[in-house]
Amino acid sequence: MKSASVYKRIVIFSGGVGGAKMARGFYLAYPEKQSSVIVNTADDDVFYGLYISPDLDTVIYHLSGLVNPEQGWGLADDTYTTLKQLAALGDETWFKLGDRDLATHLFRTKKLNEGMRLTEITGIISRALGISARILPMTDDRVVTKIRSGSKELSFQEYFVKKRWQVHVDAVRFAGVESARPTTDVIIAIKEANFILFAPSNPVVSIGPILSLKGLREAVKNSGAIKAAVSPIIQGKALKGPAAQLMPVWSLEPSAAGIADFYRGLVNCLFIDHTDKKMTGAVRERGLEPVVADITMEDSEGATRLARTIVDHCRALYGLDL
Ligand code: GDP
Ligand code: CA
Repeated sequence: MKSASVYKRIVIFSGGVGGAKMARGFYLAYPEKQSSVIVNTADDDVFYGLYISPDLDTVIYHLSGLVNPEQGWGLADDTYTTLKQLAALGDETWFKLGDRDLATHLFRTKKLNEGMRLTEITGIISRALGISARILPMTDDRVVTKIRSGSKELSFQEYFVKKRWQVHVDAVRFAGVESARPTTDVIIAIKEANFILFAPSNPVVSIGPILSLKGLREAVKNSGAIKAAVSPIIQGKALKGPAAQLMPVWSLEPSAAGIADFYRGLVNCLFIDHTDKKMTGAVRERGLEPVVADITMEDSEGATRLARTIVDHCRALYGLDL
């Protein structure tokens, strides 16, 4: 018989790079535990008829160890021959697609066209790449992030990649979210979790779409799991990307306190950086237990260390038994 601890379940909510680094830390620190990573799919887009799911791919590439470590996304040692030829044909090539990476998009699109659900396809790709954790798209329905800048509405990839997020943002919306549903797999994973962690992902465009799905927030609230979040904001800045720029669009201060506002009523504790010690009072005022730690993940070892630190604190604070 397997030891009972095998059935302890970790659930991590994730966007792309920040979430994938955290998920890899847990995967390496607790390889024998069942874990599920629930991933944002509102960044998904279609290029050349191929269905591209950047956050899912980032998580898949991190957990399989195939990721390009310098970029934090894409495959290591990939080449760009196809993209160069597309440029030679006069096409726009601002969205970088590596030659090996294209195999993922070709395979996923083929399976979608055959009628398979994104959740099943993600399972097939994960298993093929030797990943034992479950990577779960937040939904099998289509939810699409739209960024409004003045009178223009940009797709997320136009905003993030083409414009390198150097535009004023007036509003963010998730087209299709009203009729989309979280998958049964997602709801069951949340229900059965012992520990739920919101990775240090962008609150607005990575965790925002997930929490906007009907029934998702209630499922987290109703889960008996111990719940924690890690701040993606350190000293008022995002380590990477537009989190600090987007938070004010949702009236959130770009700080650990703003992150506490975002997760208010949803988690027991918030991990903030040791350089943000002065924010502990503000976090506590918002009803969350502040935990001060080194929350930067320089590499896999740093991410593994952070995963252990999180679990140790939650064990001491709430008796988390993993
Ligand atoms: P994206 O979909 O690729 O933009 O990735 P996520 O939304 O998952 O993560 C982006 C966020 O991760 C940014 O706001 C970063 O500040 C944060 N981030 C990246 N690396 C780290 C890290 O090592 N530690 C912490 N605490 N946050 C990080
Ligand atoms: Ca993303």
